[in-house]
Amino acid sequence: MAQYLAAKAYHPDALLFFRMGDFYELFFEDAEKAAAALGITLTRRGQHQGDPIPMAGVPWRQSEGYIAKAIRAGFTVAVCDQIEDPAEAKKRGSKSIVRRAVTRVITPGTLTEDGLLEAGSANLLAAAAIDGAEAALAAADVSTGSVFVRAVPLAGLADALGAIGPAEVLVSDAAYDRLPTQTAPVTPRPQIKADPRAAERRIAALYGVAGSASFGEFSRVELSALGLLLDYVELTQAGAAPRLEPPRRMGALSEMAIDPATRAALEIDRSQRGGREGSLLHALDRTLTAPGARLLAERIARPSLDRAEIGARLDAIAWLLEAPAALQGLKAALKGAPDMARAVTRLALGRGGPRDLASLAEGLRRATACCGLIAADAPEALRAAAARLAFGPTDPLGQLQAELAAALSADLPLLARDGGFIAAGFDPALDAARALRDDSRAVVAGLQARYADETGQPIKIRHNAVLGYHLEATTKQAEALQRDARFIHRQTTANAMRFTTVELADLDARISRAGEEALAREMALFSGFVAQVEGLSSALRAAADGQAALDVATASAGWALETDAVRPEIDDSGAFLLEAGRHPVVEAALRKTAAGFVPNNARLDADGLSGPRLLLVTGPNMAGKSTYLRQIAVLAIMAQAGFYVPARRLRMGLADRVFSRVGASDDLARGRSTFMTEMVETAAILHQAGPRALVILDEIGRGTATFDGLAIAWATSEHLHDVNRCRAVFATHYHELTGLSDRLSACANASLRAKEWRGDLVFLHEVAPGAADRSYGVQVARLAGLPRAAVERAKAVLARLEAGGRGRGLSAADALPLFDAAPPADHGALMEALGGLDPDTMSPREALEALYRLKALIS
Ligand code: ATP
Repeated sequence: MAQYLAAKAYHPDALLFFRMGDFYELFFEDAEKAAAALGITLTRRGQHQGDPIPMAGVPWRQSEGYIAKAIRAGFTVAVCDQIEDPAEAKKRGSKSIVRRAVTRVITPGTLTEDGLLEAGSANLLAAAAIDGAEAALAAADVSTGSVFVRAVPLAGLADALGAIGPAEVLVSDAAYDRLPTQTAPVTPRPQIKADPRAAERRIAALYGVAGSASFGEFSRVELSALGLLLDYVELTQAGAAPRLEPPRRMGALSEMAIDPATRAALEIDRSQRGGREGSLLHALDRTLTAPGARLLAERIARPSLDRAEIGARLDAIAWLLEAPAALQGLKAALKGAPDMARAVTRLALGRGGPRDLASLAEGLRRATACCGLIAADAPEALRAAAARLAFGPTDPLGQLQAELAAALSADLPLLARDGGFIAAGFDPALDAARALRDDSRAVVAGLQARYADETGQPIKIRHNAVLGYHLEATTKQAEALQRDARFIHRQTTANAMRFTTVELADLDARISRAGEEALAREMALFSGFVAQVEGLSSALRAAADGQAALDVATASAGWALETDAVRPEIDDSGAFLLEAGRHPVVEAALRKTAAGFVPNNARLDADGLSGPRLLLVTGPNMAGKSTYLRQIAVLAIMAQAGFYVPARRLRMGLADRVFSRVGASDDLARGRSTFMTEMVETAAILHQAGPRALVILDEIGRGTATFDGLAIAWATSEHLHDVNRCRAVFATHYHELTGLSDRLSACANASLRAKEWRGDLVFLHEVAPGAADRSYGVQVARLAGLPRAAVERAKAVLARLEAGGRGRGLSAADALPLFDAAPPADHGALMEALGGLDPDTMSPREALEALYRLKALIS
């Protein structure tokens, strides 16, 4: 208990998994929490200060699954292992305790185990530092070793964090309150860990360099962020020196800014329901390897602003589309290729096993296959990727691959210490030890036959961990053995007795020695390979990167073929000219149904040259306005991420930011109502959108009184047109707004067409120039199944409102007789009769008669 409490004192916030023999045990509150979260049994053991100690445990061999469950449930796990052989402890005296130490702290952002990670997603740990109005973000993928840092203004921190989607965010206590709200768990760290000088020292020690200047100049706030990050990685890896690549500096202006609300609204990497399915990423991802999937996700999350970079990615796709043999060949070579990057990291951290070595052997084999498919006339992006995979048989990578291929057996255990992973014939010393072990086994079999023969009893020789080889006899057989002095009694169980002999004990010792020797030899060979891998880790990571880049190019070309997508033309103009564009996700969803997706055009130009700056979109409910708006933003993102776009043609000037204000829900946790959330987002757009931004607004001002909402929508449109002067598309049901196109020079109307056919509404999903005349809301309500009576009543109210003169323009809207709605239909006679009654002067009988008259009037 003292040992447990000492370990727990260092990790008060983590669930401490305390190794005891074949189990990890949890005690006290940890046991109670784990029992509830992991569905394991809560028991008690011993006493602490007079009370029984709550305890819960999981078998050591199945611990990975339980740890994964705990992490997903939001816990941090500290693993306290036995760090010496129990036999060693015994040497210090029979009562001595096995040494234990925390060997690993597992948090959502610092996972390396295959079973805990999602193959196709990066698992990033981020650290944010804030200094006045400046901020910096450092992030690492501990599972692959990559590290980067970037400076951002504090106002841009939310976007920068949103762009990388971290699994865990670190921030100093002091800056905690200024960190933008995060969906990932936030771990506060002591302020001292963010000290830039300490960070300098940490970088120097970790990378073995004189100081951070070796990797470029870092500002104080960048160093703070790096310091927080590296300290935490070290802490959680508990002494196993984390192999991280030197920090890469990310420029502030190299990517399109997308704020978290826009990212969520456009469903870029996850759908509004939270899953991957239904997102742009899910529709687009045709990668065949896990590193490829991670790279593709990164590209779509952070579209570029660098025309050369975008062009290079598009060139790669274009070339592959012209070279179908290469495309097919790459697909075959990539399919099922293992995750080399994560295997290298696990091996370097001392957490790897034989299967990781096999991943490298197989990954390198496929690398050679990929390389040969990239011809000399391929564009630079492909040739550069292939160059990272190129090695000859005599190069270190080639030798490693050949050696691993020869060394590993077909069936591999998860852990090296389980043995049996080195193939026969690879190492003479190992073969000799194994032969000894296996020959002795044959001798055991011979011995069993001889004893059976000599005693006349069919006794068996068995093996277990405690007794080793022994004879097992039934009670009846045992009688015979006990008369023979050769057989030495070892144990009696419920239905058997166990014996040994001098001969058998000798043989047992010989076999276990040979087994140990074989295992020791295997472990030595394993360590040798691990050291080799460590020495080559940069080359191996480069190869993994090259393979990921080829995978993304192949996947993008495959997607383009499949969906008939075209190469976007990107320039520096303010235009967005789309012909026959389609929304990739909605189209994919419709592909399963009979209805096809209706392609649409869009013409916008911030400079007002080849189209309007502000497009107002009206049309019936359910006609496709939201889809049209999102499609514009999504295609801009795809184009700048370097993908082909589903359209007949797209020419666009680079957009430096994409904003969307689409639907809203309460953000009660932050104390914001729906309308408040909507206004905060609108405010952010009007403040931040510059002339090269692309803005889509799907309804604003719906969550308040009609005139307030209309007034806000009106003013917002004017502000976008006159002040922000960016490309903007605004969908609205305020038909009064469509009059703006007469007043604003670069504003135009478009509408989604629908027609009424035999009283039903038919949506055409076609965008046409000009304003819509109405919203057909009542018809849509009927389609949605509103009670018949309510629909009829709504029709009547609407007719009256429209008769009251609902026309175009704000002045007409002023006259909306909204609140004197719902007049009684034709109750004049009833009213008149009622008015004529004077209850004070009526006798009971007169009153009763009057009641009958009134009733008659109604019917
Ligand atoms: P509301 O005003 O009620 O919010 P809306 O006009 O924004 O409606 P959307 O949500 O964009 O309408 O579209 C409604 C449905 O119409 C979509 O779910 C989709 O199935 C279908 N749809 C939209 N656009 C198209 C299109 N171009 N081709 C085919 N179907 C489409």
